[in-house]
Amino acid sequence: MSDIKVVVFGQKRGSELLGATREAFNIGRQLADKLGGQLGALVIGSNTADAGKQAIAAGADVCFTVEDESLEQFKDDAYATIFAELIKSKSPQVVLGVANFYGKALVGRVAGILGYSLASDCIGLDIVDGNLAATRPAYGGKVHQTVKFKSDIQIATIRPKIFAEATPDDSRQGTVEAFSPASRESKLQVETGKVETSGEISLAEADIVVAGGRGLKEPENFKHIRDLADAVGGAVGASRAVVDAGWIPYKHQVGQTGRTVNPKLYFAIGISGAIQHLVGMQSSGTIVAVNRDADAPIFNVATYGIVGDLFEIVPALTEKFRSELRN
Ligand code: FAD
Repeated sequence: MSDIKVVVFGQKRGSELLGATREAFNIGRQLADKLGGQLGALVIGSNTADAGKQAIAAGADVCFTVEDESLEQFKDDAYATIFAELIKSKSPQVVLGVANFYGKALVGRVAGILGYSLASDCIGLDIVDGNLAATRPAYGGKVHQTVKFKSDIQIATIRPKIFAEATPDDSRQGTVEAFSPASRESKLQVETGKVETSGEISLAEADIVVAGGRGLKEPENFKHIRDLADAVGGAVGASRAVVDAGWIPYKHQVGQTGRTVNPKLYFAIGISGAIQHLVGMQSSGTIVAVNRDADAPIFNVATYGIVGDLFEIVPALTEKFRSELRN
């Protein structure tokens, strides 16, 4: 049996590990130290040697790589088969991924293949009496539940932007090692890949999110949200009401059936604060709500509430931020 106690899935874009993955390395390192063992990692796709070195710098002792250009695009079936095989062969106690779009698809599937439980979207992880204790939001975030695993393999995903990122240390020693899985077959073929973001800040990774809702009245008025997002260097978010109405693409939707975000600063503009929206943003550091209805439920979670007409307030805020940040 190897001495690897914790293994992290190293999600990357091109040859760069994602910021959220570096957060998993940081907490993974702490858990491995508490368990008195090594931290392992897995990266799949192209340029894996580069990503492997970053994994070592981020805290891994050993990074397994599956170099295969045909797997550069995420394929949940092939990735899950490979990750599950690595877990079986190295027998780590703790398996970690990130609860983002890919991580949720991958780690859930891995837990299914291995027949183990999964604690998803965790906001706290620790070792208690030798086992993983995972804290996760439940009942729409009203309850923070801590679950303790009793199985030999303990699988969790972490909510992005809760744990600090590992600070890279290029002088760290570790091994980057090729892993040859028995199968890497996928029933999925990616035909085309089109970048749609054109320089936009990604919602999941943003420190500031400016989100708009039906209070904007019509799609053209999303301009006010984009202007404020531009002024503060934030990403654009939206309620489901405006996504369903076709004002803005689904990738901007925050909430139960959209993305969960956890930025340092969240602006909720013309959004009533339905529970399905709140579950996707209420753990944000500071929440600023603009709504003309003083009784809107969004004010129950807001750090700062501005009661008034967004068409007056948002352009004024944008102008203020532009002039302050320019100076
Ligand atoms: P509204 O509820 O219509 O609120 C508009 C707000 O704008 C009001 O509070 C109003 O006072 C304010 N306003 C109007 N004019 C102005 C003005 N001039 N200035 C300032 N304020 C103004 N919703 C999500 O957001 N995300 C989800 O993921 C999601 N998933 C769902 C899943 C399910 C199964 C279901 C049933 C619903 C889901 N919803 C989700 C929908 C959710 O219940 C709400 O319908 C939706 O969030 C409402 O969007 P809104 O706040 O933009 O619109």
